[in-house]
Amino acid sequence: MTSVLESATPVTVRAPAKVNLELFVGPRREDGYHGLSTVYQAVGIHDEVTAAPAGEWGCSVSGRDADSVPTDESNLALVAARTLAERTGGQEPVHLSVHKDIPVAGGMAGGSADAAAALLACDAVWGTGLGKDDLAEVAAQIGSDVPFALRGGTAVGSGRGELVAPVLAKGVYHWVFVPSAGEGLSTPAVYRAFDSRNEGVDVPDPQPSAALMSALRSGEASELAPVLDNDLQPDAIALQPAIGEVIEAAMGFGALAAFVSGSGPTVAVLAATAEGAIDLAISLTASGVAADVMRATGPVHGAHVLPAARL
Ligand code: ATP
Repeated sequence: MTSVLESATPVTVRAPAKVNLELFVGPRREDGYHGLSTVYQAVGIHDEVTAAPAGEWGCSVSGRDADSVPTDESNLALVAARTLAERTGGQEPVHLSVHKDIPVAGGMAGGSADAAAALLACDAVWGTGLGKDDLAEVAAQIGSDVPFALRGGTAVGSGRGELVAPVLAKGVYHWVFVPSAGEGLSTPAVYRAFDSRNEGVDVPDPQPSAALMSALRSGEASELAPVLDNDLQPDAIALQPAIGEVIEAAMGFGALAAFVSGSGPTVAVLAATAEGAIDLAISLTASGVAADVMRATGPVHGAHVLPAARL
């Protein structure tokens, strides 16, 4: 017999990818994480997670790079659902259907977006009614980028990235993202390379830069371009030299800026206008520099419930 919950309506949530406009990495902390100062921007590439009450816990994955995403208990969407269930005193099982558009292991926080989407979807299915602050606290337990995926927009991240505060940002920015043609880069591997490169160096505590804040207040892509910064870029390029070639080519095609997104290997390319982004996307693919590109604008909203499909 179908239980009341199993007949409840499934809930679908969309959550965005992110790019780090600035990523400053501090010394390694005692808990093994690095202190960070980052400025996130949510961009219009989304994953969707549907939570449906089910007889048992489970997860399935479709869409881009689906083959490289686990469907067992290590899937971050399932980790998020389990964590929320535990936090709220036990809940009926759900099946999570994850549809991916965000490149996997690309430095765009796709797994974190799925975790944020699962939290919101399960919150709705179970009627747990946690407020934003409580959800953000559960999100931080799951991963450093998960609270930002819930919030979206443009925000400063501190701690290990999980302490998120909005920043005053104007304008719409036009991005082209070049995902890696090959394997993704493992975030821990990039941080290990950062540590070896900085061995014996007194790495300062990271702080957000006033120049970036002021560029964001101007709303001008041309002001933002020269102040974009990523401490992990040299390490991502050292591990995957093709990234450097993509950056050089994008600049040659007239990009305002081209840099590594997060821990890479995705390259984020900033265009002056929407037309400029189309031209860059065409140049990068037609020249053979990139097998595949994705265009998106930012900032966009964080994780949000989609209206139920009408029958
Ligand atoms: P970040 O930018 O936060 O460092 P990323 O974008 O580089 O993350 P993800 O796409 O989040 O990387 O994936 C990292 C790893 O997490 C993948 O190799 C994958 O095996 C695992 N993973 C677990 N759950 C998911 C999920 N739902 N979606 C994507 N990857 C997942």
